[in-house]
Amino acid sequence: MTEDCLFCKIVSGKIPSYRVYEDDSVYAFLDIYPASEGHTLVAPKKHFGNFTDMRAEDVTTLFEAARKITAAVEKAFSAEGSNIGINNGEVAGQEVPHVHVHVIPRKKGDGGRGIKSIVWTETDTANLEGTAEKIRKAL
Ligand code: AMP
Ligand code: ZN
Repeated sequence: MTEDCLFCKIVSGKIPSYRVYEDDSVYAFLDIYPASEGHTLVAPKKHFGNFTDMRAEDVTTLFEAARKITAAVEKAFSAEGSNIGINNGEVAGQEVPHVHVHVIPRKKGDGGRGIKSIVWTETDTANLEGTAEKIRKAL
């Protein structure tokens, strides 16, 4: 629990939320400004500011919960698919610095687009092998 973290307060019940799922390590609740009906946030109970701060077992638990919740949200709202994602860091649009997975149900004709509509920068693709090598080296 981090004292002035909004989602730590939601997880601990200090701030009310529309809970949809809870287990020992995960808390899922409705986004109060939903991108579509049923938009749910899936958060680890433990405070991690950033996705890359998480340990393997915490990631496994979080994403298994996100998978289950995605199936439920799609069923509940007769959605044909969904976008599942994390805004990782302020530059990527993260407003609440406590890791959470967005589950946004999608329907045909809803006017939304896919994940590459978040950002599109002109990128030189002539040397993708060099790009891959940079990432391999950083791992
Ligand atoms: P992000 O930009 O990825 O950090 O997402 C934060 C999300 O939290 C936004 O989609 C907000 O609509 C949502 N949000 C902010 N305050 C609350 C709250 N009190 N309860 C539920 N969702 C919230
Ligand atoms: Zn927190």
